[in-house]
Amino acid sequence: MASRVIPVDPFDLVIFGGTGDLARRKILPGLYRRFWAGQFPGGARIVGASRKDMSQDEFRSFVRDAIASYAIEGADDPDCIAGFLNHVTYVAVDAMGDAGWDNLKAMVRTDVVRAFYFSVAPGLFGPLAKRLHRFSIASSSCRVVVEKPFGHDLQSARTLNQTLANYFDEAQIYRIDHYLGKETVQNLMAVRFGNILFEPLWNAQFVDHIQITVAETVGVGGRGAYYDKSGAMRDMVQNHLMQLVCLIAMEPPHCFEPDAVRDEKLKVIRALDAVDPGDIVRGQYAGAEGIDSYLTDSENPASLTESFLAMKLHVSNWRWKGTPFYLRTGKRLKARTSEIAVVFKDPPHSIFGEQPDRRGNVLVIRLQPNEGINLRVTIKEPGPGGMRLIEVPLDMSFAEALGKEASQVADAYERLIMDVIRGNQTLFMRGDEVEAAWAWTDPLIEGWTRRGDRPRTYQPGSAGPEEALMLLFRENRRWREIAE
Ligand code: NAP
Repeated sequence: MASRVIPVDPFDLVIFGGTGDLARRKILPGLYRRFWAGQFPGGARIVGASRKDMSQDEFRSFVRDAIASYAIEGADDPDCIAGFLNHVTYVAVDAMGDAGWDNLKAMVRTDVVRAFYFSVAPGLFGPLAKRLHRFSIASSSCRVVVEKPFGHDLQSARTLNQTLANYFDEAQIYRIDHYLGKETVQNLMAVRFGNILFEPLWNAQFVDHIQITVAETVGVGGRGAYYDKSGAMRDMVQNHLMQLVCLIAMEPPHCFEPDAVRDEKLKVIRALDAVDPGDIVRGQYAGAEGIDSYLTDSENPASLTESFLAMKLHVSNWRWKGTPFYLRTGKRLKARTSEIAVVFKDPPHSIFGEQPDRRGNVLVIRLQPNEGINLRVTIKEPGPGGMRLIEVPLDMSFAEALGKEASQVADAYERLIMDVIRGNQTLFMRGDEVEAAWAWTDPLIEGWTRRGDRPRTYQPGSAGPEEALMLLFRENRRWREIAE
């Protein structure tokens, strides 16, 4: 299959925080992979910016090291790396002072796409925006990219949005949630809206329930004290899982344009019911041989923050009334996996009589690892012995189905950065979406904080607390296995 990389217009991309962890692990290697795939125009320039006093050579060597450590494809191609480094330059600026800004102004061009990536702490967004304007570097056509967290509650999210709105129009602001850049997440929209097959069944009449699982095997050690201030609800559910709920539950937008898609997602968030405390299970991982417990990792023996969260929620609209959405996410679980499972109802009548082992149709959208889509269908068990039914998967792993092309598929960060250059906001969160998600989240967090709810303990390497299993068992359902 021929590669279909679409070139972008010449651009200047300034990465504030260009020497930071995110730039090193994701942004710079991602840009390199797009260069390697042939997507860079001749006139592309990447400007690293931070306070550090670094020579051009020192920054390029930092970038070379980032590529060697994280780029995977193309990282062993010295000519390609040398070509990429020709596009890279560095300037020292301080977000909190005026040093270096004249140099930055002299560097960025006015006749190309200009994007400013704020890969810094959110407290620096305002000072950066202010100086970009004061030094006449920003214009009404430039774009700014901001990283999560977008606040830690509704009030702080509003303040952050207001700070950005003081300097930029909403159409200039790109809030990155890298989950939305994943190939499978976009495929979810392609599967739903590009096929006639699923959409007629995509409602409470035919869907029994939805399961969304984002499981990690790692603990929070290393960043435990930071994590302890947020927990699974703020770190994962309010943003990533909420976005997945939106994509599953939303109505078909009238076109694949940014605001048409985001309007529909917003309606889903606004249709979410308040969650009953009895439908929420929070957990903390225990310690085991060679593994520290959450309480040790968080450096807070009295912590009430959750490293695991499972919940049942309802989308109150005509399409979904009566179909529960079960969400589950946690650290130190059995396997690292992210998936959405749409579990369909049984046919209204079985002409084959009782089939006790029958489990029905399930559409599984795997986000990681091994991105792909799997549909479980019922067939006759081969061989004699009457009409016994079994379920088999119709499986499409992207890596297998698309072969070499799959390896050239951009990862989430690459795709999203190229979308910024193209000026396409479809896969970025709008300010009102973020605020609506916090407006739904805040009362839940306030509730368990007020009640002093203690998270349940679960064993590392398990599927979370027993109570999370009961969330489904009690309704005659069961979670899918957490497996890679
Ligand atoms: P980091 O490793 O601490 O890097 C921070 C960067 O900001 C450094 O390049 C630092 O360089 C620069 N900086 C700090 N103060 C500055 C100032 N006054 N003026 C100009 N530059 C300044 O942080 P990070 O992990 O890359 O994270 C960056 C942002 O992305 C944060 O908002 C974080 O929450 C978010 N994020 C990170 C990840 C991740 O995986 N790392 C994932 C999701 C979101 P100097 O010290 O030289 O100035």
